[in-house]
Amino acid sequence: MMLAVSLCAAVFVSLLFCVSCTPYVRKYQKTKLVRVALLCGVDRVTVSGIAHKKAYDQHTVTVNSAFPMYFSSAGSYVEVNGTQYRGNLELKLLDNRIWVMNVLDMDDYVKGVVPCEIGRVSEDLYEVAKAQAVAARTYAFAHLDQHQDLGFDLYSSVQDQVYKGVRCETDITNRAVDATAREILTYKGQPVEAKYHSTCGGQTADFNDAWPGTAPPYLRSVRCPYCSQSPHYTWEKTYSKSAFFVHLRKGLEKAGISLPRDTRIQNIKLVRNRKSKRIIKLVIVTGNEDIEVPGYRIRTVLGSPGDPGGLLKSNYFILDTRRDSIVLKGNGWGHGVGMCQFGAIEMARRGMSYKKILYHYYKGTKISKVR
Ligand SMILES: [Zn+2]
Repeated sequence: MMLAVSLCAAVFVSLLFCVSCTPYVRKYQKTKLVRVALLCGVDRVTVSGIAHKKAYDQHTVTVNSAFPMYFSSAGSYVEVNGTQYRGNLELKLLDNRIWVMNVLDMDDYVKGVVPCEIGRVSEDLYEVAKAQAVAARTYAFAHLDQHQDLGFDLYSSVQDQVYKGVRCETDITNRAVDATAREILTYKGQPVEAKYHSTCGGQTADFNDAWPGTAPPYLRSVRCPYCSQSPHYTWEKTYSKSAFFVHLRKGLEKAGISLPRDTRIQNIKLVRNRKSKRIIKLVIVTGNEDIEVPGYRIRTVLGSPGDPGGLLKSNYFILDTRRDSIVLKGNGWGHGVGMCQFGAIEMARRGMSYKKILYHYYKGTKISKVR
């Protein structure tokens, strides 16, 4: 009975909203709406919202419902599995699984991102909230249409930026978003790739320390004398020698780098970026051919299941070899590229403006207003 009601409602919603969906598609091009994937492939979801003037409360949608479906908030909020979001919802079926997209105004999206990414900040740190708002907005603009094949712009997770809707918003971060409305960082008139990370450990990374490809000129290593109060400023990992080599072999296998089982590892060399101090190449010396691990794979190779995302905290470390053990002594957490969030917090605490913070970490960029 429940299912029948649900199906009827779904068909009803779908038929009526095939027409009413058109305005927001047009509006998307004009007013910078953003489409955020909230759920990617589930078999059931409950939603609340308005569909053709009818209010649905905790309405159950299954893979047997009729898709696509659209729900508006009509001045309030829509809900997905009990969590409130601004804007509208679009539900569709891909490979017989339900995908839920939140379609909303860019700055409403940024309001749900800033506190998730920078944390809850106090009034004296207002400038860092503004810096994070501009960085998050810039990232979103630079990534519009990146998942066009799936029909949305951004994931709501660390894959893009963490977005949790209304529940994570705070008064101070919302004010920061409003105060910087329409502002993004640009380089030669284009939105920049506004990378940011938790803690650089004293010096940010060059783009190619973390990723292959062409490096944007504004993502280069800069000194950061601001993040030493971060709990991630330094870190250590200690292994027995035998455990380290087991860990290394497993990591190479995980990263798809072949090292035959009977190959004896004779030595390990670390090649470092002199400026950023990151490891840009790890060379495993064997009796035969040396094996090279590029810098941007090292966090995967040396990461453990217990590390966040399975990645080593950073590729900014030294190997301290002792009689029976090997100690990794590292700095920072994250890829190290772009804005160091703990550094930015300290800059704000010392009275620096959000523009000064952004221009420190993204050299040669400028703040522009999107039309
Ligand atoms: Zn830093």
